[in-house]
Amino acid sequence: MPQVLLKKMEALAQKPIHYFLSTDNNTIHINNILGHTLKIENTGEKYCVRCGAKTKKLYGEGFCYKCFITAPEADVCVIHPEKCQAHLGISRDMEWSREHCLIDHYVYLAVTDHLKVGVTRHTQVPKRWIDQGALMAIKLAKTPYRQLAGLIEVDLKQHFSDKTHWKRMLETNTPPDIDLTEAKRSAAALLIPEFRKYLDLDNTIYTFSYPILSQPPRISSVNLDKIHTVEGKLIGIKGQYLIFDSGQVLNIRKHSGFLVRIST
Ligand SMILES: [Zn+2]
Repeated sequence: MPQVLLKKMEALAQKPIHYFLSTDNNTIHINNILGHTLKIENTGEKYCVRCGAKTKKLYGEGFCYKCFITAPEADVCVIHPEKCQAHLGISRDMEWSREHCLIDHYVYLAVTDHLKVGVTRHTQVPKRWIDQGALMAIKLAKTPYRQLAGLIEVDLKQHFSDKTHWKRMLETNTPPDIDLTEAKRSAAALLIPEFRKYLDLDNTIYTFSYPILSQPPRISSVNLDKIHTVEGKLIGIKGQYLIFDSGQVLNIRKHSGFLVRIST
């Protein structure tokens, strides 16, 4: 019964996508559990995913309070790229920012249950889209640093959603009838002139299929702070969610830093 400190599942972009969870001395290939019983028990212990300190409460995506207020991984630009100031030499940690903010970024269009605009580091293609449970994606613009991609995204938010509705995302497994090349053309036409030079000419349409055996009747999300154990037949994995036959879904990323026991 391995104990696992939960953090974001790793994904391999195959068809369908393969998911992995790392334990101290092992890697669990979650696709192999599909169709079988999976039990995840909360031990009640929590640890910072960055510094490893034991903590009563986690902040953001699995940080202790100290890391949350000081770590570059938890800075405001992670959620709001347009607020990144690394290009001005301002950041919690410039060394980290040189590797994560002052590198090529993409503004993209992705389809979950609907069309949305987003930003990602070039190193996160196509992981970022898989984490969101996107069915399709296309690159729109390429910028040399993070804040600029954020500004383009903000400009496009007047016309496109930037949100993923997790429940509708989990319920939608056939892509809606959206022509992404056409959507990119419309988005490009909406850009203000100074942003147009960043348009990416690569029109590759990325498509993703998730390992889902069947669709549960009704979806409800599990909060491991409220219930101790989730158990059932694993019938799907999508985005960062494990989907059980009861309709319970567990967002692994949201439980980063929880120490759990996993048994099959
Ligand atoms: Zn910490």
